[in-house]
Amino acid sequence: MAAVKACKILITGANRGLGLEIVKQLSEDSCQKRHIYATCRDPDGPKSEALRELVKKHPSVITIIRLDADDPCSIKESAKKVGSLVGENGLNLLVNNAGIVANGTIQTSSVEDMKNTFNTNVIGPLLIIREYLPILKTAAKFSGTPGMSCNKAAVINISTVAGSMTRMPSIYNQFPTLPYAVSKAGFNMLSVLAAEELKTDEILCMALHPGWVKTDLGGEEAALEPKDSVEGMLRVIGSLTEKQHGGFMDYTGETVTW
Ligand code: NAP
Repeated sequence: MAAVKACKILITGANRGLGLEIVKQLSEDSCQKRHIYATCRDPDGPKSEALRELVKKHPSVITIIRLDADDPCSIKESAKKVGSLVGENGLNLLVNNAGIVANGTIQTSSVEDMKNTFNTNVIGPLLIIREYLPILKTAAKFSGTPGMSCNKAAVINISTVAGSMTRMPSIYNQFPTLPYAVSKAGFNMLSVLAAEELKTDEILCMALHPGWVKTDLGGEEAALEPKDSVEGMLRVIGSLTEKQHGGFMDYTGETVTW
């Protein structure tokens, strides 16, 4: 059961994989004032069918919003729409989950894969944080409580140990995903610098590794089911305070070395 008590929550890449499971678990807990803005790039398309089915079960809790992390206009438009929906209390929790993987090594990585991964995994989240910052600030001010928590105002960046300078070299043979790893290392730095910028507004920001999970991205061989990864991540997210601000943790609550 999710320990997250945030009321207004936005998740990117919410139509499948970990994003969909996050929406599912958050919509099933008993938080009264909860509203989830489940964003995806093609709300009416076949890849969003499972999300649309979930909305049918929880129509008053989930709203689907179009957001393509590769398209600055769609990010801006989504922020405008969510801004008008959240009201005066603002947005409590932004989960930057959307991401893409690309395989490759120094010898084989294509320029296109390097650009695409950087675009979706780094530039997208940067613009998303920027556009949603006003309503995150509103939530931080509205809470009236000191300190930091995801119930007040927070940005959680779903990253990976593949973006860790210390962890990736030893798993590189098993996961030759250079474009992905380089972009996620950039995403990790984005998390650290965003934390630096957001601290005066008491908006918590950190990077979270979900484990190796059976999704389209993680593959069949992965160690974890989405349910178990997301249960762990929500437990961690629910427990965060200013002590973890600017940090990097995994779904079990262990610190990950940068
Ligand atoms: P997934 O099953 O492949 O799902 C990826 C999600 O991101 C989909 O909803 C996809 O939407 C969305 N997405 C991709 N590009 C997008 C864009 N330009 N704009 C908006 N949405 C976009 O992957 P996952 O395993 O759930 O991964 C979620 C996050 O966890 C990623 O950031 C990933 O790096 C991270 N992670 C996963 C694992 C793992 O083992 N699975 C491990 C470490 C970290 P479409 O359906 O439109 O493509």
